[in-house]
Amino acid sequence: MERIAVFPGSFDPITCGHESVIRRAVPLFDKIIVALGVNSQKQGYFDSETRLKMIGATFADCPSVISAQYSGLTVDFCQEVGAQYLLRGLRTSADFEFERSIGQINKQLTTNIETIFMLTQPEHTPLNSSIIRDILKHGGDAHQFVPHAAWQIIQENI
Ligand code: ADP
Repeated sequence: MERIAVFPGSFDPITCGHESVIRRAVPLFDKIIVALGVNSQKQGYFDSETRLKMIGATFADCPSVISAQYSGLTVDFCQEVGAQYLLRGLRTSADFEFERSIGQINKQLTTNIETIFMLTQPEHTPLNSSIIRDILKHGGDAHQFVPHAAWQIIQENI
């Protein structure tokens, strides 16, 4: 059976922290679906098409990493695509507490899906998409925090 993982998030925009976790997980799974969760009530900084384009460009060299968009419960999306694993990154103890409750509830909702956590690389611990959006809003240079291919797309869209 194929080992399929879903890595869910907003990716508004994708960061070097996301990229690092996904690349380190490539040897563990046959397929990783980087899944953009869409909330119709919430307008993102980048539209979902641009976010998906950034994810696709970042992993153009990784055939086992694909991108997708979903709305609704993440575990329902996992069932739909036949994923047995939910992959998440852990930066801090605050992430752990947040992820612990979601992971435990997801396990109660769907017993056949395991949540797998990967610790962030130390240099990516302070990184999140909202800091990058703030830098961009104020005209700053965030290239060092974003995958190279995604940065090129950001420049075309700001
Ligand atoms: P959310 O949509 O829950 O805000 P994000 O889109 O920010 O999530 O991130 C998706 C996943 O990537 C989460 O598991 C999150 O913990 C992880 N992640 C976010 N930033 C980093 C980082 N700098 N290093 C490692 N993992 C990260």
